[in-house]
Amino acid sequence: MDYKGHDMEKLFIKDLEVRGKRVMVRVDYNVPLDADGNITDDSRIRATLPTINYLLDEKAKVILASHLGRPKGKVIPGLSLRPVAKRLSRLLGKEVPLAEDCVGPEVKKFVDKMNPGDIILLENLRFHPEEEQNDPEFARELASLCEVFIQDAFGNCHRSHASMVGINRFVPVAAVGFLIKKEMEYFEKAVNNPMRPVVAIMGGAKVSDKIKIIENLARKMDKILIGGAMAFTFLKAQGYEISRSLVENSLLEEVKNVAEKARKNGVKFYLPVDFVVAEKFDPKAETKVVTFQEIPPNWYALDIGPASTRLFVEALAGARTIIWNGPMGAFEMDAFSRGTYAMVEAVTNSHALTIVGGGDTDVAFNKAGATYEVSYISTGGGAFLKLLEGGELPGIAAVTDKQAYEEKQRATVMAK
Ligand code: AMP
Repeated sequence: MDYKGHDMEKLFIKDLEVRGKRVMVRVDYNVPLDADGNITDDSRIRATLPTINYLLDEKAKVILASHLGRPKGKVIPGLSLRPVAKRLSRLLGKEVPLAEDCVGPEVKKFVDKMNPGDIILLENLRFHPEEEQNDPEFARELASLCEVFIQDAFGNCHRSHASMVGINRFVPVAAVGFLIKKEMEYFEKAVNNPMRPVVAIMGGAKVSDKIKIIENLARKMDKILIGGAMAFTFLKAQGYEISRSLVENSLLEEVKNVAEKARKNGVKFYLPVDFVVAEKFDPKAETKVVTFQEIPPNWYALDIGPASTRLFVEALAGARTIIWNGPMGAFEMDAFSRGTYAMVEAVTNSHALTIVGGGDTDVAFNKAGATYEVSYISTGGGAFLKLLEGGELPGIAAVTDKQAYEEKQRATVMAK
């Protein structure tokens, strides 16, 4: 498998000697917690089990490192990884102790006493400000705990932090784990080398977050369906009245160009043809369904309507690959969730390879109980989006091509 010209096969966990060695795995355990500190979705923990089980079977000494939330460099007890250690212990059927910190003499002592087949979870990396600053000393200290470094924190690979990038300079050997390999393989099948026809469904709140993606996909997809609040910037650019619906006025020219470019490339570009509109941005507000030409003055369009759903479902027929990112409406409120759930159903009923990109879209699949009916749900929101943009993931680049990455970093620093 290829990542930006680097042969990932040669940098894969299975190609390294790990038996009896201290192996640090950077995982992404940034899981959602409720007000009582309970984990509400453990899919990111489950996604790391293949790598962990492999290492335990190989009798490595497994040191897991992760961040959780945004403690901003301070110790916040509510953002301790303790609930994760507990859940992981349950999933593995083996006690996973939590270290008091992620660096320092106590951790080192603990690691030194580990036996082959032992496992430990380090405390939240972001309790140290140096993690997000990609501080070299901190990276060196982390690296000193291990003989082998495995990068498997796909969801964080768009971040150039110490445990993601900096650490690679100080570890003797590094490779990617099973999760990253799987994410990259699905991405390859969805975007770079898809079975055609390939259709992208894009939704969500802001065009500004996703314009680069649409630009990139406009070169690669056969069809692009646009839903969510994003659609209003496209409609306004064509001169339609969108009343109080969300819009990004600074992007009107840009979206017009992107849509035109897509059409010129032969990509079929779909916008919604009707909406569920409401008098207020409120779940109890009066609602009605109107065509896109008839959004009443001062009303908000908050979901795609039934005709749009039919149109989009029709456009998906015969697709052999479908990629989806972003809800079709303000789906957190029941009154504006139908468009999104109708698309969840259409995608799960399709015979295509279906790939769903993190964030709100996987929440919709979870809520609909359809998680296991798609081919793959990415564990990375921002990282998945970065890939869709055609961008590079520093967390992977630093493993697969250390030297080139370091040179680029140096050049950027010198240019500043
Ligand atoms: P994103 O993070 O960009 O994927 O956006 C997801 C958010 O977009 C969700 O919280 C939705 O409620 C919101 N959203 C989608 N469609 C609309 C809409 N028509 N009006 C307001 N918010 C929307």
